[in-house]
Amino acid sequence: MPRSLRLAATTLCLVLLSSLALADLPQAVDRGIEAVMPDVVTWRRDLHQHPELGNREFRTAGVVADHLRALGMEVRTGIAHTGVIGVLRGGDGPTVALRADMDALPVTELVDLPFASRARGEYLGQDVGVMHACGHDNHVAILMGVAEVLAGMGEDLPGSVLFIFQPAEEGTPDGSVGGAELMLAEGAFDEPRPDAVFGLHVFPYPVGTVATRPGGLMASSDSYKITVKGKQTHGAVPWAGVDPIVTASQIVLGLQTIVSRQLDATLTPSIVTVGKIDGGVRSNIIPESVDLIGTIRTFDAATRVEIHERIRRTATHIAEAAGATADVQIDLGYGVTRNDPGLYRQMAPTLQAVAGEQFIEAQQTTTAEDFSYFANEVPGLFLFLGVAPDDPELVYPNHSPRFYADERALPVGVRALTALTLDFMAAEQP
Ligand SMILES: [Zn+2]
Ligand SMILES: [Zn+2]
Repeated sequence: MPRSLRLAATTLCLVLLSSLALADLPQAVDRGIEAVMPDVVTWRRDLHQHPELGNREFRTAGVVADHLRALGMEVRTGIAHTGVIGVLRGGDGPTVALRADMDALPVTELVDLPFASRARGEYLGQDVGVMHACGHDNHVAILMGVAEVLAGMGEDLPGSVLFIFQPAEEGTPDGSVGGAELMLAEGAFDEPRPDAVFGLHVFPYPVGTVATRPGGLMASSDSYKITVKGKQTHGAVPWAGVDPIVTASQIVLGLQTIVSRQLDATLTPSIVTVGKIDGGVRSNIIPESVDLIGTIRTFDAATRVEIHERIRRTATHIAEAAGATADVQIDLGYGVTRNDPGLYRQMAPTLQAVAGEQFIEAQQTTTAEDFSYFANEVPGLFLFLGVAPDDPELVYPNHSPRFYADERALPVGVRALTALTLDFMAAEQP
């Protein structure tokens, strides 16, 4: 029996015996968490085996909605295509929003598990394997567990909770819109309006780690396209035209000076990458135009705007110097996933109680998250939950076909979101 299979087979009992987390929760809540964990594991394995691409999470949304209805919640479905929101009304205290993303990726699973995905789907017209390679199956199962625990508190719940099950965090298989931005546009936060939003993402930190930080946690992600227009001529007679290839090359180098020479290096890390250069047909023709495309990442909203301005200035002025023109188009992607510093300070002791020494300051990551839309509306706190198994040979990054989430992290996730909700409500009582 391969090691990974043995690992999976022994995981359930490890989950039940896990002493990875001991938050200071009321005993009844602790018992509720203990009682729901076998179901959380079962849900997670079922979801893992039945992954669905963005805006196609029909089965997943059905499983979630049925569960929330069985708990007696008011349930809204079909938000931003397949999104589900459960509203749990408690006392007069504050409202907390908890968010889990539901979608999977066009990745063919290579993990040796009894519940490995064999699913297939269509992505941009291509037949692809589908896998929860980013671990969103864990997020959904954890939040279903939290819903059961908090619903079980009945009248003892001091405030209200919005359970947000979001589609299409990873984009959609046909380029259609979706995700957090669309959920908000369709009223996800309208009633009741949350006072704070919490979410988590599984990540290859050691299993049971809870990692976060105040301020920018995950980068903003924008893309750009620069079209450099020159004047086509014979490759042997460059003076008769304007060479967009040489101009585009100067622009590539100019763009690299934005981060290295122009931005305050002590403020925040930033990236300007050129990912593609496209122009020309054959060796002895200087073409009419060249296209550059690339990506921009940073952790600070003002720096993000500044980089956009400097890209425009750099490209257009270099082109102008050569007698060419540069048309710069910047497409805004996800914003900075920024943890509200006040909320971070308020909730850090809760996370310390949940994870003990495994509560650590997260490194910033240059990947992006559309949780940022929710955290732009109300104070937000986003966590990484460590799911890396002990055996280093089984540790792979998110989006790898070998990404494997150790289930011993699941109770830590349930405990973290439950404790954040209850401690926030206790602190913010009217
Ligand atoms: Zn992902
Ligand atoms: Zn993800």
